Amino acid sequence: MCGIVGYVGHKEAAPILLKGLHQLEYRGYDSAGVALTGEGLSSISVFKAKGKVANLEEKVNAALGKSGQMLTTGIGHTRWATHGEPSEVNAHPHLSMSGDLALVHNGIIENYQLLKEQLSGHGYEFKSETDTEVLVQLIDYFYQKNGKNLAKAVSQALNKVIGAYAIVVMERNDPGHLVAARKASPLVIGIGEENSEFFIGSDASPLVEYTHKVVYLEDEQIADIRMGEDVEIMNLDETSADLNIKDVDFDISALSKGGYPHFMLKEIFEQPHCIKNSMRGRIIQHENGLYEIKLSALTNFKAKLIRARHVIIVACGTSWHAGLIGKQLIEEMCRISVDVEYASEFRYRKPVIDKDDVVIAISQSGETADTLAAIQLAKEQGALIFGIVNSVGSSIARESDTGIYIHVGPEIGVASTKAFTGQVTVLTMLSLAIANAIGSMGEEEFQRTCEELVRIPQKMEKVLGQNETIERMSNKFTYAKNFLYLGRGYNYPVALEGALKLKEISYIHAEGYPAAEMKHGPIALVDEEMPIVCIATHHHLYHKIISNMQEVKSRKGRILAIVTEGDEEVKAIAEDVIEVPATQNCLVPLLSVLPMQMLAYHVAVKKGLNVDMPRNLAKSVTVE
Ligand code: GLU
Repeated sequence: MCGIVGYVGHKEAAPILLKGLHQLEYRGYDSAGVALTGEGLSSISVFKAKGKVANLEEKVNAALGKSGQMLTTGIGHTRWATHGEPSEVNAHPHLSMSGDLALVHNGIIENYQLLKEQLSGHGYEFKSETDTEVLVQLIDYFYQKNGKNLAKAVSQALNKVIGAYAIVVMERNDPGHLVAARKASPLVIGIGEENSEFFIGSDASPLVEYTHKVVYLEDEQIADIRMGEDVEIMNLDETSADLNIKDVDFDISALSKGGYPHFMLKEIFEQPHCIKNSMRGRIIQHENGLYEIKLSALTNFKAKLIRARHVIIVACGTSWHAGLIGKQLIEEMCRISVDVEYASEFRYRKPVIDKDDVVIAISQSGETADTLAAIQLAKEQGALIFGIVNSVGSSIARESDTGIYIHVGPEIGVASTKAFTGQVTVLTMLSLAIANAIGSMGEEEFQRTCEELVRIPQKMEKVLGQNETIERMSNKFTYAKNFLYLGRGYNYPVALEGALKLKEISYIHAEGYPAAEMKHGPIALVDEEMPIVCIATHHHLYHKIISNMQEVKSRKGRILAIVTEGDEEVKAIAEDVIEVPATQNCLVPLLSVLPMQMLAYHVAVKKGLNVDMPRNLAKSVTVE
């Protein structure tokens, strides 16, 4: 998930592009770059810098200050790496080998390896590790063959591509011209007075300062943008499509949050899309309808992964909760014993680690200091280190022998939401893939679980549809000083996560417990003041948790229950009920955690707290 910008017109492009990149920086800040050209020039100038847009700005200003050239066309990018570590060489824009084309890209080209091999066969050489560079070379290949028709070359290339993209391409030979296209990644084109200039952005925030006339490109559409002319829209099959110009008028400051009042709410609502990204190219349905899970980590380290008799998961905070779900998944599906450790404790004990063990490190940022130290310790003992992180090229990603990126895009809200569901999705795919490789799970069950996992994003949408109901419910809980969260089995870590979310952003003390443990202490806290969130979805412990709820109710506790759609039994006991669609037991956390996130969010907002920047917390804990 990155930010892309473009400009073609009569003004200096660089300041417009740099300002736009600053506005889109929330979408990624691994590196940034711009490509610029202008009338009468014979080349495209590319500037790149690792890290934030400010680093790029310094470079561009230093170089252009002296040049005196009028560069009126350009494209820019702020990267959130998916393929290849954050570095200057991997930063966008990427130039084609001929130097004729420059391209910025948001998304993932899933079949880039195959395309790369084919292009190498045609003599193309690659400088970066990115999937994006493959795309610019592929466009170049068709461009050189078809007499340098850029829009046609883009459509020819995109017809060969599997994956997601928003792209903008510029050409050396025609400086007043840009071609843009999208599929599953957003792209907006702003139209200046009488087509005298055009602006492009991943969202409208970089455009609205200049124009309110915009075109939201649709999936699989290509826009041919030429100064002084109407934008031409065509479909991937080169048939023409309508130019649908809309009027935008909105608050620019809210845009980086995509119109949501807080990053946290935006990220909660992004989850169905993020989970799809996590699964993209990894769960594959063949023409015969059967599913296969393809994880490169498993291909490369198969022998060691399937030989492991013991897995240790090290993590902190929300990632530790995802780890607890990972333990249940791996034990149930693969019959391999798993310990889940707080990284901060593990690193200072003398843990028993065997060289045949697999140590899974989970961290959103990939920079969590304790988790990093824990894997360094495990590495010394010869264990295989498997990283599950969000930030590509982060320290944990680099220290790991292998791993899986969760690919949920930058998480800005301090209270983690989409990273948690991304981690659980990846742990589910990993468990399924190992189970399938070692034969610990029947083929029929494997197929059924894959099929259901693919349906989860759709089911998440249904849960998110209850946001307003949860918002209303949250009104009556702002008084609370304490909360209890109860769950069993797969829902026990969800109860812990629910309690953590509430603590983090609403500053209400909350405890998560396995429901049956209530009687061993916490039940003493229950009175008519105490809200108790019970996660009571249908599974083999359903009737047991109903008994636990009765025990609470007898002590006048106020129960808010999360139940499976259509449940009547719990409704009779609970004061409030939130329904989640039925799914397989092992996949329930991906749905039952959403009401936890929404409840914590709304309670905190009702209390007038800064949800995105809770006191005393930091997003990435890079200190012990
Ligand atoms: N897959 C591309 C890369 O890793 C684009 C990532 C992005 O959307 O920032 O460079």
